[in-house]
Amino acid sequence: MNRLLSLLFAVLLAPNSNAQMDKASKQLAHDIFKQLIEINTTDSVGNVTMAAEAMAQRFRQAGFPEGDVQVIGPNDRKKNMVVRLHGSGKHKPLLLIGHLDVVEARRDDWTTDPFQFVEKDGFFYGRGTQDMKDADAIMVTTLIKLKQESFVPDRDIILALTADEEGGKSNGVNWLLQNHRDLIDAEFVLNPDELTVWTEQGKAVVVEVEAAEKTYSDYQLVVTDAGGHSSLPTPGNAIYELVNGLARLQQYQFPVELNDVTRAYYERMAKVETGQRSADMKAILKNPPDQAAAARLSHDVNDNAMLHTTCVATRASAGHANNALPQRAEAIVNCRLLPGHTKQEMRDTLVRVLGDPAIALHYVSDTFTVSDTVPTNPVFAPQPLRQDVLSAVEKVAGEMWPGTPVIPTMARGASDGTYTSAAGMPTYEVAGVAVDRDDDREHGRDERVGVESFYRGLDFCHRFLKTLTAGQQ
Ligand SMILES: [Zn+2]
Repeated sequence: MNRLLSLLFAVLLAPNSNAQMDKASKQLAHDIFKQLIEINTTDSVGNVTMAAEAMAQRFRQAGFPEGDVQVIGPNDRKKNMVVRLHGSGKHKPLLLIGHLDVVEARRDDWTTDPFQFVEKDGFFYGRGTQDMKDADAIMVTTLIKLKQESFVPDRDIILALTADEEGGKSNGVNWLLQNHRDLIDAEFVLNPDELTVWTEQGKAVVVEVEAAEKTYSDYQLVVTDAGGHSSLPTPGNAIYELVNGLARLQQYQFPVELNDVTRAYYERMAKVETGQRSADMKAILKNPPDQAAAARLSHDVNDNAMLHTTCVATRASAGHANNALPQRAEAIVNCRLLPGHTKQEMRDTLVRVLGDPAIALHYVSDTFTVSDTVPTNPVFAPQPLRQDVLSAVEKVAGEMWPGTPVIPTMARGASDGTYTSAAGMPTYEVAGVAVDRDDDREHGRDERVGVESFYRGLDFCHRFLKTLTAGQQ
């Protein structure tokens, strides 16, 4: 009896903030995760609809009304699932997005079958364990759990699980925005597609909140010439023209530019860093930014990408014979634009920097077609850094990884957030599944996630969504 009593007290006295996720929820998350990994959702031979249907079934079983669970899409293989947990309606809805598709994986390259859910040495293995079926399973479980708890958020929480983020022609987020905007319309969006809690040998070092994204844009540079016999060189050699232009681009540095998010990034990083780096970070926050400090920081490739728009030559080809003057020389320049800049504006800048009318410059579309039509792609205005999102992350991260800095960042790649941000719904990436810095296996072989890390990620998502929508902000 005494033992029982002391056990009971131990349970009662356990601080709530360290409460572990209950067994039933962990089991449910595990089962959903396994189910998702074992449904092949690659573009080549997989089927996203099967995964969407399976998740819809989970929600119906959990008591979500038929009318709040939709499986819709442009064709039989690429359907998306949308579910809504009703809130009090005090604010406009919150949209959660997660892609169901995964990158191709070959059995021969892997130690285990990538489409079998394998638990081994404290890890779950399988294609999508990091990108991003872990987060999909966590979001599904969390919504079901909130429903079981009869939790009423201060806004509807919508979850869209979608097709073709990694490739393919039927991007689900884009399709939903074009065809069923009403189903997913929201004040803001959370997308746990990026790894944002980083550990070193299991110890948390940083919790990131991605709150801005750069825009991707390719340009084709072409120089043409009459050519001729290589024994009779002419001044207008297409290869030299192109290479000289590219050399001017190499020397060019786009101006330093800060926005809400990168400003917050450097404010916080200045406290984490020490010495010259910390001093430089403070100096670039001055108005105008200290140029010498910016130049020193820009030697680091990450800071360079954070502070500047970048354009870099990524491909080149020229000539048709060893003994002929080139008739054509071409190159691709890939640009990553800071928020607030257009592709047309970037083209004008490139024309100026290349400084040679002989170099023709064309847009390259997302489907690799070359044209001179100004792209209609929207401009990405810099997003606000929402205080409610940041505060909720800080509160929960403070409980789960005490003392770990929370740092807003700007993604240098692009995700499905591109579509939602462009549609006027600010999008933030935060995911509670911690991964060791040297164990990022997204798109790679033997993709895996720590078992404990996965369950803590579930705990994070549950606490985070409750904090964010509890109506006490
Ligand atoms: Zn992903």
